[in-house]
Amino acid sequence: MSDCLFCRIVSGEIPADIVRQSEHTIAFRDLAPQAPSHVLVVPREHYANLGEFASAEPGVVAALLRETHQVAVNEGIAESGYRVLFNTGPDAGQTVGHVHAHVMGGARLHTLG
Ligand code: 5GP
Ligand code: ZN
Repeated sequence: MSDCLFCRIVSGEIPADIVRQSEHTIAFRDLAPQAPSHVLVVPREHYANLGEFASAEPGVVAALLRETHQVAVNEGIAESGYRVLFNTGPDAGQTVGHVHAHVMGGARLHTLG
């Protein structure tokens, strides 16, 4: 049993509001949204951060980025605009050590996450 929060969401052990699933990724709503639409997209496999993920599985990174766009389309924010953000490490405010893309939109975004 993993002690990683997002691995537990991937396995279904912890509930989440899942909005999309693909072979290698799942997308679910952020518990504390910072924008009207705020969805996290994560690989099913555990990687600590974007650097580790991109080095190990660049093809899955591409699949995950495709999913971020599909989330934006489904949320109705693809045209109005949205931000995709990967926090990496303490200075960026990464609090969960399982790589995740924030997809945020639905309002004018003034700050960098
Ligand atoms: P980070 O700060 O690591 O870039 O982003 C972690 C995000 O995960 C935060 O925006 C936080 O609100 C979200 N989060 C933390 N715990 C949970 C949870 O149990 N469920 C969901 N859906 N989101 C969570
Ligand atoms: Zn994990």
